[in-house]
Amino acid sequence: MNIPFVDLRAQYHSIKENIDTAIQDVIEKTAFIGGHYVKEFEKKFAELYGVKHVISCANGTDSLYIIMKMLGIGKGDEVITVANSWISSAETIGQTGAKPVFVDVDPDYFSIDDSKIEAVVTPQTKAIVLVHLQGQACDLDKIEALCKKHSISLIEDCAQSHFSEFNGRRVGTVGIAGSFSFYPGKNLGAYGDAGCIITNDDEMASRFRMYANHGALIKHKHEIEGINSRMDGLQASILTAKLPFILQWTEQRIENAKRYDRYLDGISEIQRPKVRPNSRHTYHLYVIKAQKRDALMEFLKQHGIETAIHYPTALPNLKAYAYLGNPPGNFPVATALQDQILSLPMYPELTEDQIKYTAETIKAFYKA
Ligand SMILES: *Cc1c(COP(=O)(O)O)cnc(C)c1O
Repeated sequence: MNIPFVDLRAQYHSIKENIDTAIQDVIEKTAFIGGHYVKEFEKKFAELYGVKHVISCANGTDSLYIIMKMLGIGKGDEVITVANSWISSAETIGQTGAKPVFVDVDPDYFSIDDSKIEAVVTPQTKAIVLVHLQGQACDLDKIEALCKKHSISLIEDCAQSHFSEFNGRRVGTVGIAGSFSFYPGKNLGAYGDAGCIITNDDEMASRFRMYANHGALIKHKHEIEGINSRMDGLQASILTAKLPFILQWTEQRIENAKRYDRYLDGISEIQRPKVRPNSRHTYHLYVIKAQKRDALMEFLKQHGIETAIHYPTALPNLKAYAYLGNPPGNFPVATALQDQILSLPMYPELTEDQIKYTAETIKAFYKA
């Protein structure tokens, strides 16, 4: 059996007609940048997600950068984020001129250890980029209270957590803004780069929109210098075509995670993902902690199962962050996890047979 890590073709074939029609429409109307399809996606995503404003942009890295720039973050400021994430969460902090301040991860949920945040807050701290990694929401109640107490802005990186919830609130709707990526492999994926910002704040919404579009809300009326970060019409129409299915796909991911949980039960060499109480995990990734991780990964590969590591090097351990001068050993949990975590194939179209086969192959590896 061959099981790819993600299978974007399976999803395309399940809604081929909708996608092909959507693409054809954009070409016929030559609505390539901005225009009808982008507006339609923004409106429909806002309705479905339950948020006032959706501001589309080119990708889920720009969205973080735009949010921070429009919050006035820059040189001399500090922004807190988590030690294990995709580099965008930290890179965009550096791009503004501010200093990324890392916090170690929680050994249970692999996201920011919220008991360690307060210790790194200083008078320079302006914001926190809170990453809801793998589809698991952070404890938004606790972190919202902490941000209020210290007057720091809460920015939510939801690139891996479309429709995840904590205590009944959707991620991205609690802080000043939520940042989404629609990179093809994300839970809601375009056929190229795309991203958006969500917010319930009218004034910030218009600032984000202006900055993403060369500092102009009206053509040629540039109020500030901005950037070019636009979603194109093809991506918007593809995303709109996918929206009617996204809730069902999310349910299928959750169902597939339950199947993994059942079939992987009783293997003492691995730890299955733990779900934070009161939260809805949407399983962008199904990450196990495994003994002899590298050998297991190789064994699975030999048996046709493709896996991945998110991420093989914790952010503070990357060469890119050597300039921060963090002493080695400062992030013990994230550093230990980088050699133990393994992401198993996860997507809505994954079948029960594929999950069972993966689990049986893992069992066979530890028996050998
Ligand atoms: C994918 C991702 C991003 C960046 O999104 P792009 O659209 O690829 O720029 C940011 N943060 C996290 C946590 C991600 O997983």
